[in-house]
Amino acid sequence: MASHSKQTPMMQQYFAIKNQYPDAFLFYRIGDFYELFYDDAIKGSQMLELTLTSRNKSVSDPVPMCGVPHHAVQSYIDILVDKGYKVAICEQMEDPRLAKGMVKRAVIQLVTPGTQMPDSPGKQRDNNYLTAVDELNGQYHFAYTDLSTGEVWVTTLGSVDEVLNEMMSLQTKEIVVADNLPSDLADAFKPLSVLQSPQQLPEISAEVSYVRQDAANDGQKQVLARLVGYLLATQKRALAHLQKAVVYTPSQFLQMDHDAQVNLELISSRRNGNKRGSLLWVMDETRTAMGGRLLKQWLERPLLSEKEITARQDKVAALVDDYFQRVTLQEQLTKVYDLERLAGRIALGSANGRDLLQLKASLQQVPAIMDTLRQLKSHAFDNLLKTMDPVPEVADLISRAIVDDPPISVTEGDVIRDGYNEKLDQYRDTMHHSKRWIANLEAKERAATGIHNLKIGYNKVFGYYIEITRSNLDKVPEGRYERKQTLTNAERFITPALKDQERLVLEASEQSTALEYQLFTQVRGEIQKEIARIQTLAAQLASLDVLQGFAVIAEQYHYVRPTFVQHQQDLNIVDGRHPVVEKVLGANAYVPNSVTMDPETEILLITGPNMSGKSTYMRQLALAVIMAQCGSYVPATSAQMPLFDHIFTRIGAADDLLSGNSTFMVEMMEANDALMHATPRSLILFDEIGRGTATYDGMALAQAIIEYIHNHVRAKTLFSTHYHELTQLADTLPHLHNVHVGAAEENGQLVFLHRVEPGPADKSYGIHVAKLAGLPETVLQRADVILQQLEGKRRAVPAPVMQKVPAHQPAAVAENSEQQLALFRPETVVLTDSVERRVVDGLKDLD
Ligand code: ADP
Repeated sequence: MASHSKQTPMMQQYFAIKNQYPDAFLFYRIGDFYELFYDDAIKGSQMLELTLTSRNKSVSDPVPMCGVPHHAVQSYIDILVDKGYKVAICEQMEDPRLAKGMVKRAVIQLVTPGTQMPDSPGKQRDNNYLTAVDELNGQYHFAYTDLSTGEVWVTTLGSVDEVLNEMMSLQTKEIVVADNLPSDLADAFKPLSVLQSPQQLPEISAEVSYVRQDAANDGQKQVLARLVGYLLATQKRALAHLQKAVVYTPSQFLQMDHDAQVNLELISSRRNGNKRGSLLWVMDETRTAMGGRLLKQWLERPLLSEKEITARQDKVAALVDDYFQRVTLQEQLTKVYDLERLAGRIALGSANGRDLLQLKASLQQVPAIMDTLRQLKSHAFDNLLKTMDPVPEVADLISRAIVDDPPISVTEGDVIRDGYNEKLDQYRDTMHHSKRWIANLEAKERAATGIHNLKIGYNKVFGYYIEITRSNLDKVPEGRYERKQTLTNAERFITPALKDQERLVLEASEQSTALEYQLFTQVRGEIQKEIARIQTLAAQLASLDVLQGFAVIAEQYHYVRPTFVQHQQDLNIVDGRHPVVEKVLGANAYVPNSVTMDPETEILLITGPNMSGKSTYMRQLALAVIMAQCGSYVPATSAQMPLFDHIFTRIGAADDLLSGNSTFMVEMMEANDALMHATPRSLILFDEIGRGTATYDGMALAQAIIEYIHNHVRAKTLFSTHYHELTQLADTLPHLHNVHVGAAEENGQLVFLHRVEPGPADKSYGIHVAKLAGLPETVLQRADVILQQLEGKRRAVPAPVMQKVPAHQPAAVAENSEQQLALFRPETVVLTDSVERRVVDGLKDLD
């Protein structure tokens, strides 16, 4: 960079500001443009596809420069911030016409990935979370917020892994940290593509003290101060919409780590990364953006308290039972705008007239919504009705103050309604009066001069004028008209009286515009005082919206209300279905399956050929648990279940089956996580554990893991396997039961029945599946021969080692195990994967 001393005063000012924001693109306002200089210009011109030019081209080292017009700046800022950069917006702080010397400039906002306002329609249903972490007294204190809604959460975590897990679940793009980040966190953050923003502890502002009122310890106070400090430093304005931080612990909810959420495809499909094909896709019948965001939060954090779950279920039931009121409610909710973000914009001072009208329209729906809820036969909403507050003063204020069709701009008038302010009415009267005077002038002057085509016109440079065509110039009254402008065909004149009226119009217009802006900000300020009430209402409407959505899917897909059993005893889901697969295939094509687990049945060992539906069966249970603990009905004809505290998954994806050792490492890490942390109240889903390594190796590990869960962990576990040998464990592990997914041969073809039945599968269909995939007959025949040979060589499984739980029978290997051993061979995996992919291709309508 060039040295500053030789720079012009403007470039000196530029550097003084740029030095405060070394890690941001500085958008420096000059007139109607925002300019970027030096490195910012070089990088920015590439990323934004702008022409790189230079300032002071004549001098020896010209300054690289590029610029964007002010009215289009937002889209350019968004591009950079979406790429993970920060943008400092530097404005002219005074009118250049009135400035003495250099125009004062200052950064009015720093836009960052974590503080970006998601205004585009595609992002309305997403939260954008900014996170912060602090280490204090050997613990990690973690907080996050969505600036657009003002919600704030805080927790204390025991390990770096937990911090990473929260960060990943929240999909954070930016984390606020101390200047001297502790090395354990620094190391952990290195591989992540999360922007780290250092922030010193700030002075205690009103916002900081409000937000951290309920903080549980000093660490939480500290991290909240850092988080809010960063918000204030970037937004540079009061943040009246920040809410009191909600103190939470992950163990308050049904826990699932980020991988489990991904594996179970709660929010997005693994196949295409989109909502389509996920549980959210089936469940999202919300009518508002707020409801859409809340549903996601609920799905990622199902409840543990039966009381809270039942309260949600009661509301869903009330709406299921009353079709008419439910439809009415939906229509009413459709007219509710994003109150959370409207409140945010009002607090941030960026709400315009149209935002206020949206707020009014939303508030005006509330009495009708309350009426609808009152009509319901159930009393489930009584408590809500008692506290629901439509904030009528605000709706009323907006009705009185704001016109029905305000422009986007709040500084150019036409926002405030007639009759709202006396002074404004006077200005408007004057304008009106003078404009009418001018309008009448045309007729008057035509009569006075006899020039029938005399015209009154207006332009920006000369203001109002009288225009007379060349042929009539001789009729222009002597001395009364003053010549202003000559055109080819006409001359333009003014008169002192016309200019007097013009001055009145302009003055009144200027004054009224200024007054309108002042009145508008006053109105916005008044509403700002009620933000907490609006936010409470927004939260109530969002949850009402999610619950009506639950009622919709309950009815649409014939779900059933689950009941809960207190002890970890009986789980009984009759004719359960996988909600997503069912929606894709259609209800008739889906084969329902029951799951029964009781104190005698803690582990279900699931066998069956590839593509028979093992994994679907396992996922189906996990999704039912999640749906139930969110308060939703579940896809089954009846469902009774315990409340689970944690879901652990190891479910292979079609793609990572192919990727060898690293997959196996992930597999073992996920298995380890479950063995270490699962409790008897947990649910474990292990799909094909051990298939990532050599046969005996994998089988040995799988068996050892099952034994460990059986004897030590005692969690409810679904374990699918290729190793048919493992089915013998049922003889020695009393809490383990075999089930299998049936398939049948018809005319030499394999038919998947997708039906789960008791007992182990009795046949491997690997070669048949390969045949279905179209492999050449010679390969299939050769495989048959090899199979025979291998069957001859197989050795027996080692007997299970019994611990704690006494064996009912001595560990033994079934007589005919040699034959069974060969039936479920991982050797067939390679062949059948291609079939799996084919079927996956067949499901492309999801993409
Ligand atoms: P596996 O885990 O045994 O290899 P999956 O569970 O992946 O098999 O199921 C393979 C495919 O079979 C699924 O994508 C789905 O289309 C279909 N499927 C599974 N279970 C059922 C069912 N109960 N009813 C209908 N189709 C099913």
